[in-house]
Amino acid sequence: MISRRPLMLAGGLALAGCASTPSQASLGRVVVVGGGFGGATAARHLKLGGGESVDVTLVERDAGFVSCPMSNLVVAGERELASISRGYAGLERLGVKRVRGEVTGIDAAAKTVRLADGSRLAWDRLVLAPGIDFMLDDIPGLAAALDSGRAVHAWKAGAQTLLLRRQLEALPEGGVVLISIPKSPYRCPPGPYERACLIASWLRRARPRAKLLVLDANPEIQSKRVLFERAFAQAHAGVLEYRPNSELQQVMPDGLARFEFEDVKADVLNLIPPQRAGDVARELVNVNRRWVGVDWLTMQAQAAPGVHVVGDAIFSAPASPKSAHLANQQARLVAAAVLQLLKGEPVNPAPVLMNTCYSFVTPTEAMHISSTNRYDAAEKTMKPVPGAGSLSTAANAQEAQLAQAWAENIWADSFGS
Ligand SMILES: Cc1cc2nc3c(=O)[nH]c(=O)nc-3n(C[C@H](O)[C@H](O)[C@H](O)COP(=O)(O)OP(=O)(O)OC[C@H]3O[C@@H](n4cnc5c(N)ncnc54)[C@H](O)[C@@H]3O)c2cc1C
Repeated sequence: MISRRPLMLAGGLALAGCASTPSQASLGRVVVVGGGFGGATAARHLKLGGGESVDVTLVERDAGFVSCPMSNLVVAGERELASISRGYAGLERLGVKRVRGEVTGIDAAAKTVRLADGSRLAWDRLVLAPGIDFMLDDIPGLAAALDSGRAVHAWKAGAQTLLLRRQLEALPEGGVVLISIPKSPYRCPPGPYERACLIASWLRRARPRAKLLVLDANPEIQSKRVLFERAFAQAHAGVLEYRPNSELQQVMPDGLARFEFEDVKADVLNLIPPQRAGDVARELVNVNRRWVGVDWLTMQAQAAPGVHVVGDAIFSAPASPKSAHLANQQARLVAAAVLQLLKGEPVNPAPVLMNTCYSFVTPTEAMHISSTNRYDAAEKTMKPVPGAGSLSTAANAQEAQLAQAWAENIWADSFGS
């Protein structure tokens, strides 16, 4: 269902008192909100393409960034969190101004954003890349369980990743780990199944009598299905039990997880909540009450021209996952389009976006799926190019090395470090 409601952005903000300094840049000011894969890439490529002619300010609430890609290896004890963390010095070296803060409101008419400390930033073009937030109200008890640490999502990397790791290390022999997967769409369709494989690999070595239950709200595995089914049935047989059509309904105060057909008592509760566009984009949401619909030539929100949105917060194109690779690709598209719009030049009428998602099935074996989408002018969306995608025939050691190289490349392209 597509719901369209009138745009209600925070209004009445005066430009006087804006935190941004008057710019010498000839093209204009771009504010980027969110310093993850989408926002960092947009800020970096705006500067790479526009140099001193464009004034770029990146607003991010956190001091640094922790990558979700490769975080399942941290959960499994195979990598350190520091090795998947990046700072913003690479962007600052290019001239990106960084503001550490939380954006709490957007005034599209006055072209300002408001920050939690009361300051404001003025822009000629705004790029939002806030990622996802969780729909906790849908599942009674889930918010309280996550707040208390009884349950862990680890679906935003950082403290949650380490908490899940610590809880696994504290698992008694013969204990039970539960992973609950929400209905699609959620960020990184293969991510939960990769996590299941890596946790199962660790259990086999460290807690051979423990069990991993994977309860999936979806009717089947959501990505690389045949290859994950093979991994579950072969490498992880006897440790991992997978059940489709199992949606989390409630979490009781004692940690009992209630599903439609069963109650599960587990020692470690990795409950991945249902997701929607990040809070700061909520006024731009116009698809299924969850996602921001965009014009794919410029990534402008359908509900607010002048405000560009990239990454997990948008309504994905057909057969496109919510991935770091696509957030990076969309951000490169937006950087080029914003510079062209600021110059009054036409934008690329036929953009192409590519995606590759690697998944580990053991710490030393990985597999990939890739796709290419091209703009379809008749349908005004990015459509998969037939025959331009690929899927591994089997997980193997070489692809595990390629996966690590892919991560280094995308961190370098997004953060410049
Ligand atoms: C376990 C796991 C594994 C994954 N593996 C892969 C993989 O192998 N390959 C792949 O391509 N993708 C992978 N993904 C998906 C990938 O992490 C996301 O698709 C990607 O992070 C989306 O980028 P984004 O910029 O939209 O959001 P994010 O990277 O989450 O960045 C959003 C940023 O915005 C900031 N922010 C939000 N709101 C505000 C605000 N109001 N004010 C200031 N700052 C704000 C946040 O702090 C955050 O830094 C994985 C995800 C998970 C959970």
